[in-house]
Amino acid sequence: YFIPQIDWQGNEISIKGDDAHHIIRVMRNQVGDQIICNHQDGNAAICEITSLNQNIVHAAVIDWKAETVELPIAVTIAQGLPKGDKFDLILQKGTELGASRFIPVKMDRSIVVWDGRKIEKKMARFEKIVKEASEQSHRNKIPEIVLPMTVAELIHESVNYDVKIFAYEEEAKVEAHQSFAGIVSRIVDNQKVLLCIGPEGGFSEQEAKKLKENGFHAVRLGPRILRTETASLYALASLSYHLEE
Ligand code: SAM
Repeated sequence: YFIPQIDWQGNEISIKGDDAHHIIRVMRNQVGDQIICNHQDGNAAICEITSLNQNIVHAAVIDWKAETVELPIAVTIAQGLPKGDKFDLILQKGTELGASRFIPVKMDRSIVVWDGRKIEKKMARFEKIVKEASEQSHRNKIPEIVLPMTVAELIHESVNYDVKIFAYEEEAKVEAHQSFAGIVSRIVDNQKVLLCIGPEGGFSEQEAKKLKENGFHAVRLGPRILRTETASLYALASLSYHLEE
C-alpha cells in the first residue's frame, strides 16, 4: 500500500480511505496479518496489522525490506497518443515492467485527440491503473503520468535525460540499422532513459528529423513491425532483460 493514504507516526501507521477498504473488505485481512507499505522515497516496510475497524487500519512496522524491485535505471515511455484504450494497456503492463514515468505525446499521425475537458477524468483513471498495477507487481514506487504534450515540448523536456531513444519503424527496414541492444549495452545504472514510441501511423518525417537533430537515437526493435502498444512493452521487457538479473 502506498502513501498518501498512509500516515506514518514513528513505527506505527494508520491507513484510511480506499486502501483501508481494500485491506478490510477485499483482502479480508485480520489482526496479526502482514502487509507491505511503501514510502514515497521507494523504501518498503513489512507491517503487522494491530487493529482494524470499519474504515481505519492500524499497523506496526516490523522490518524494512532491503530488496528493491525497481529497475536500475529510470525509464520514461513517451507514447504517441494511441487509439481506443491502448494507453490503459501500456500503463498497466508498462508499470509491471518497471517504467517510472509515462508521457502521452500528441503526434502528427495520432488519429485521436484527447478532449481537454475530459482530461481530468482520464488522468484520474490512469492514476488508478498505475497504482493498482504497482500494488499487484509489488513495485516500490508508483510511476508518474504527465499531461499530454507535443513533440516540441517533449524535445524541450528531453534535456533532463541521459539517454534519448526513439523506436523508428523506418530503421527496421534499413540493413545498416542501429540496434536497440547496441544502445542498451552502453546504458549504466541510475541513468535516466527516455524512450519514444510512435502512434499507429508511426512518426512523420518531420518528427523523425527533429528528434534526430535533438540527440534522440533512432533504433529498430527487430525486423518485424510491431503494434504501437507491443513496441512500448517489447522495449521495456528488453531493458529489463539486459539490465536486471
Ligand atoms: N500499424 C501498426 C499499429 O497499428 O500499431 C504498427 C504501428 S508502428 C508504425 C508504431 C510504432 O511502433 C512506431 O512508430 C515505432 O515507434 C514502433 N515500432 C514498431 N515496430 C518497430 C520496429 N520493428 N522497429 C522500431 N520501431 C518499431
